[in-house]
Amino acid sequence: MTKKELPAESQRIEELARRAGTPFHIYDGRAIRKNAEDMMKAFSWSDGFINYFAVKALPNINILRLLKECGFGADCSSGPELRLAYEAGIPPEKIMFSSNDTADEEFLQAFNMGVIMNLDDITYIDDVIRVCGRLPETISFRYNPGNERTGNTIIGNPVEAKYGVTHSQILDCYRIARDNGAKHFMLHTMVASNTLNEDYIVETARMLFNLVNEIWDNTGIQIEQIDLGGGIGIPYREGDDRVSFTSLSMRIKELYGKMVRTPLKLSFECGRCITGPYGWLISRVRHVTHKYKDYVGLDACMSDLMRPALYGAYHHITAIGKEDEEKDHVYDVTGSLCENNDKFAIDRALPEICRGDLIAIHDTGAHGHAMGFNYNAKLRHAEFLINQDDSISCIRRAETYEDYVRTQLGEPERIM
Ligand SMILES: *Cc1c(COP(=O)(O)O)cnc(C)c1O
Repeated sequence: MTKKELPAESQRIEELARRAGTPFHIYDGRAIRKNAEDMMKAFSWSDGFINYFAVKALPNINILRLLKECGFGADCSSGPELRLAYEAGIPPEKIMFSSNDTADEEFLQAFNMGVIMNLDDITYIDDVIRVCGRLPETISFRYNPGNERTGNTIIGNPVEAKYGVTHSQILDCYRIARDNGAKHFMLHTMVASNTLNEDYIVETARMLFNLVNEIWDNTGIQIEQIDLGGGIGIPYREGDDRVSFTSLSMRIKELYGKMVRTPLKLSFECGRCITGPYGWLISRVRHVTHKYKDYVGLDACMSDLMRPALYGAYHHITAIGKEDEEKDHVYDVTGSLCENNDKFAIDRALPEICRGDLIAIHDTGAHGHAMGFNYNAKLRHAEFLINQDDSISCIRRAETYEDYVRTQLGEPERIM
């Protein structure tokens, strides 16, 4: 059972907020590092184990550098993400390019960089050959199990997903890739999203182990590495349990022992469970208003954290300095966007909130700042990092008006 904690003592966060201004995201680098190291340690029985951190979850070069030091690679889905991972110093063989609906230029960029290309469709084989002249020596395919998935604990509906190669196409993918010069083969899937159910991830491993054997039996092609994707969830609610890397690893190890016939490297591409719990959005209360409901209006808005508005996602909220007060008031906690769904919480029990209170929104370390946007000319806010020695650095400054208008052409440029 998790308890929701703050990244530092209340007074220290208050001092930071006074000095730096609000709102901002703050990440606990020490906790992120420990978590990444724990994952690597838990899977150390598996030779060559790696987690390709899903860059989209927290695309800040400083975070990527930190994770690189823990042995992580990067999972990228676009040209700019590839470049960011490269700039962070992650070697190409530790960069996974898991794109879909991929542009020709992105295929070429990935090919030239020498990263691992994970193809989302059988037709992309021809695209890569057309664009790059040949296939890379190492090739991966993204598998979508559809209805043919094995293991009855698997949930969700892959049939509705736009991603991946179907069961009836997968053998041909490897055959065609081999016939076109590919030498090393990987198999990828991504069937989970924010799941706290360990069984689900173990069943994904079972599904891929089975498929590796099926590919061998039918084509003689040996898959050298599987990628179990991301999707391990985090305990957003107090009282939820996190997925234990140790327990997950031991269960996968047991299956591996029973099912795997030739050496097979394991990998994940988790984002959320690596950084998610170690980020907080710190925001100041601007107004407390009483209409048909009671509202707490923050200086942050959904451009700082879109998940609640987008999916109705729950994020725990702490009134800093009021941790021990009784939660005997009920509020909608809102931002300032001209959209009524700009709410961080609806009907949330909190202590009595006053103008000027400092609020922490928890678990914003993944898919938080990253999903921001500039609607309503909302400028995006800063990101801070707590370092190993407890000092705090700015790792992304807040946007200014000049940043916002940088791409607008006050002097229109005639293009036709
Ligand atoms: C989003 C995504 C991930 C990361 O998912 P998390 O939930 O952050 O672990 C990994 N791989 C692919 C292909 C993705 O689209």
